[in-house]
Amino acid sequence: MSTRKFIIGGQILRSLRQARTRPLPAYWIWGGAMLLVAGVVLAQQDFSRVEIKVTKVSGNVYMLEGSGGNIGACVGSDGILLVDDQFAPLAPKIKAALKQLSDKPIRYVVNTHFHGDHAGGNAEFSAESTIIAHENVRKRLQEGGTVGGSAVQPAAKEALPVITFNDRATVHINGEDVRAIHFPHGHTDGDSVIFFPQSNVLHMGDDFVTYGFPFVDTKSGGTVSGMIAGVEKALALAPADVKIIPGHGPLSTVADARKFVDMLKETRGLVADAVKQGKTPDQMKQDHLLAKYEQLGKGFIKTDAWIDVLCADVIQVKPE
Ligand SMILES: [Zn+2]
Repeated sequence: MSTRKFIIGGQILRSLRQARTRPLPAYWIWGGAMLLVAGVVLAQQDFSRVEIKVTKVSGNVYMLEGSGGNIGACVGSDGILLVDDQFAPLAPKIKAALKQLSDKPIRYVVNTHFHGDHAGGNAEFSAESTIIAHENVRKRLQEGGTVGGSAVQPAAKEALPVITFNDRATVHINGEDVRAIHFPHGHTDGDSVIFFPQSNVLHMGDDFVTYGFPFVDTKSGGTVSGMIAGVEKALALAPADVKIIPGHGPLSTVADARKFVDMLKETRGLVADAVKQGKTPDQMKQDHLLAKYEQLGKGFIKTDAWIDVLCADVIQVKPE
């Protein structure tokens, strides 16, 4: 690393550290509310109003939307395999919605990652279902920590995946070879995308979302570069007409995911160039460096926060 690069890196690092000493940014609070990882926040949610919407995607795969991450369901004569299970209080509603599709048992739940809005219902399903996930999902659920500034308690034993894998796993059910493929250091360090080759459906977990700039959980091993690599790999392995279930948002296509990853690459490229020119994150924000993507910064992750995440990725800051 040249001295100049080092100085620029140091400036950015200072600027990012100063940002952390300021009061908790609103987007983190919002993030906590959205992820619903802290019990306090959980208590504020009125799950009684949530309705589970079921959409047939293709073949034997359905998408269930309620509150939290999208659920994928493979339904057939062998039983049901779920991808993610939202929040614990929604489990009875999710089970009731699945009963409308089939009387067969829910035999497996595959977690795309450990966040509470995707794996929060594990304990409610584990009596009848085998929970499967990447080994870091089990580790992070077991240990607890913080996500988006909110404390996460260690999960109960019943919520832990009982089968873990470190690269990929396949579940053969309903004539489908359901493939869970680990992509390291994307949204977290335990992400898997789930591919249903016979039905031609891909569940991307939170490596692809449609709410604007994505949340990258850097404290849990997530990185923007890893997310870019993961989406690129997923798009390379899936057919061009695959139907994509995003972690959050409506059913999507390859073109939608392509647009998303192109945005990740372009915004990271703009920030990398600005870093090379010696600009600090504050200057990038003042310059409206990401003006082209202004609309995406109006959701969950604001543009300024996205610039900070990109800067940290470019100069490879390790979160404290
Ligand atoms: Zn997540």
